[in-house]
Parts: sequence; C-alpha cells; structure tokens
Amino acid sequence: MVQVPFFRPEIGEAEIEEVVAVMRSGWLTSGPRVKRFEAEFSSFVGAQHALALNSCTAALHLAIEALHVKAGDVVIVPTMTFAATAEVVRYLGAIPLLVDCDPSTLNIDFDDAERKIADLRAGRLPGLPADAPIVGVIPVHVGGFMIAVDAMRAFAKKHGLWLVEDAAHSLPSSWRADESSEWIRCGHDTADVTCFSFYANKTLTTGEGGMATTPSAELAERMQIMSLHGLSIDAWARYSGGKSWDYKIVAPGFKYNLTDVAAAIGIHQLARAEEMRAGRERVALRYFEEFSAVAEIELPANDANRIHSWHLYPIRLRLEFLSIDRNAFFDALREEGIGCSVHWRPLHLHPYYQQTFGWQEDHCPVATREWERLVSIPIFSGMSDDEIGRVVAVVRSLCARYSRATASVSGRQ
Ligand SMILES: *Cc1c(COP(=O)(O)O)cnc(C)c1O
Repeated sequence: MVQVPFFRPEIGEAEIEEVVAVMRSGWLTSGPRVKRFEAEFSSFVGAQHALALNSCTAALHLAIEALHVKAGDVVIVPTMTFAATAEVVRYLGAIPLLVDCDPSTLNIDFDDAERKIADLRAGRLPGLPADAPIVGVIPVHVGGFMIAVDAMRAFAKKHGLWLVEDAAHSLPSSWRADESSEWIRCGHDTADVTCFSFYANKTLTTGEGGMATTPSAELAERMQIMSLHGLSIDAWARYSGGKSWDYKIVAPGFKYNLTDVAAAIGIHQLARAEEMRAGRERVALRYFEEFSAVAEIELPANDANRIHSWHLYPIRLRLEFLSIDRNAFFDALREEGIGCSVHWRPLHLHPYYQQTFGWQEDHCPVATREWERLVSIPIFSGMSDDEIGRVVAVVRSLCARYSRATASVSGRQ
C-alpha cells in the first residue's frame, strides 16, 4: 500500500551543502547567511525591509510590539486561524476580538468584523471590554489564498487600524484587483508588517524560522532591536560580525534571531520557491479535475485574480450526502495510509478563549459549521504521480462507500 505523508519537505543537495559549509565556517548563529537570506527574501517579495527570525510567531509578536500594542487594547483576529495569531495579542495583555470567516475562502469576513465591532461597543460581547480601544487587525491568508488587498486596507483605514498580515501560508501568493491590474505579491507593502513562517511543513522551510517584512524603517528598526534582547542597533552589529562590544540595552527585548544554519537552508529553498509552488499547483489542478464530479465533497476556492501558494488543499465534506462524519472520514483516510490534518478548530471553540472571554459557538456560526466538515489532504511539491493517484483513489472510494446520495439527488454538481 502506498503511504502518503501529509507533507514532505523538498530538501535538495544545495541546502545540505550550504548547511555543511556553515558548520565548517564556525559561525553558527546569525551572521552572513542571515544577511543574505534577508536581502534575497526582500527582493523576492518586493519588501523594503526584511528581518529573519526564529518563527512566524516571533515575527507577529515583534510586529505588534513595535506597533505599541498595550494591555487592554483590542486587536481584531480571525477565529479561523492557528493559535499563534491570537496568542501574540495575549503576550502583550491585549484582547483578541474574534471574527467569523467567509464561507467560500475561510478568510476573515470584513462584514462580520463590522458586526463584531458594533457588538463589542453595544455590550453584546459581555466577556470583552465594551469601550476598550480597537487598535489593529491581523488577517490570515488561509492556505495561501490571499484576501483582497484593497478590501483589507480599506477596512483598516476606515477604522484607523494598523494592519499586520499573518502570511504563514503565503509564500509565494499574489493578488490583483482584476485582469487589467498588476499582480501584488504578499509582503510587497501589503501591510504595515507581513509575517512569514518557515516551519517544517510550510511552503518554504528552515525547520523552524520566520521573516517579518515592512515598508517602514522605523518598525524594522524596533523589531530588530527587540529581536535581540533590546540591544541598540550598534550592539546588534556585534552579532552580525561588527565590532561594537559596548552594547546598550534600550528595552527588555526577546531572543528571536534566526541562525545561519537555518538561513543556509532558507536561501536555497527561496531559490526554488516558484518551482515548488508550481509543483503544488500541479497537485491542486489534478485534484480539481479528479474530484469535480464527486458530489460528497466541496473543493477549495480558486480565482483568476490570485496566484495561490497552495500551502493547503482543504476539502469540505457534504455531510448531508455522507453516512459518516468528518472524524470518521479522517480516521478512514489515516487507516488507508493518507496523512491528513484539519485547519483548524476555530479559536472561539477552544477552552481558553471560551473561558477567558466568553466566546460561544454561535458567535461565529460560519466557522462553527465549516470546521466540522474540513479535512486537509496532502499537497506538497515533491508529490509523485503515484502518491497523487493514491490520494485520489482513496478519497473517491471513501465517498462512494459512505455515500448517501443517489444519482437523482438534486443540488449535485
Ligand atoms: C504555522 C502558522 C503560524 C506559526 O508559525 P511558526 O513559524 O511555527 O511560529 C502562524 N500562523 C499560521 C496561520 C500558521 O499556519
């Protein structure tokens, strides 16, 4: 039986040789390779400034610290995201205002964000402080399908909010307003700060790692200082091969710098980022074709005005056509040797957010409904035809085996 992992990183000889070269060089922590990775990354996405960090979580934390988030502030966060997006808000004692998702893309729904602001102000969210300042928004491009940049910016501008993108899935992703507009790549001045992840199963990996990009020299400087113990920029130069020994602590910072060992991997992953995206797109296109006539599942959103990174390929079960639920379907996939995952149990359904801020299922009804039918199936650049074929065959046969639909069911597509 062909086993198909949920994800397999594509680590080439170039990455391996570069890591060995770092080991031989004797300079293991942040040094010349981090500098090179930052320079190549910023030119790849078209950013003014790029800061390499040891995770996307670190990037998000530094971004909102640099934007002066204080205890008691409110920050708008989509409920359909990973733990990191909201936890960084809590690191600073601020409060996430959770917002429901768009049923088609699973990205943040700005209409619901308007409702949540009104609900907060009217005291209809009793677990949250009704008159606390709302300072910013952290949209997530779920799976690498970009939120419309114009809508995202217009929302932030209307409410006077800063905008930090959680772009953990979006390397590379692009958006354009319409067929006649220019493509805008995620990180190319799309927000005040854009945060990328290089975790082991992301589209570009350094094992653990992240990057913050920004058009603002001021934010870049603050994030750099805070990423290394709050040492002044001069002192920072010590770590990147400079001469200054007399460091000055200007704030109680963190320890978030990336190592040269990790950057060595990142440099060569970045060089293949487009090629690897094309590899994932090939898998996605094959899935669209093979599953188009399978009534029991819905396929992810795609759009001519997006270049999709295809970090994830989440299918949604049409539970009314199936005799089993998502959990049983998931277990059946695993039993057939197919790695899969669920992105995600939304934040408002986690005990911490429920107990601390009073979130309930019906506060975000779309996410509550959709997550019960989500399954992410394998998609990665090095997937062989045999592996794709195996996933297709297993999904199709499970749908057929547990189908409740007959050929005459109306509403079939
Ligand atoms: C993976 C992920 C993160 C965290 O990335 P790390 O590099 O592991 O810190 C943040 N947000 C989203 C949406 C993610 O999927």
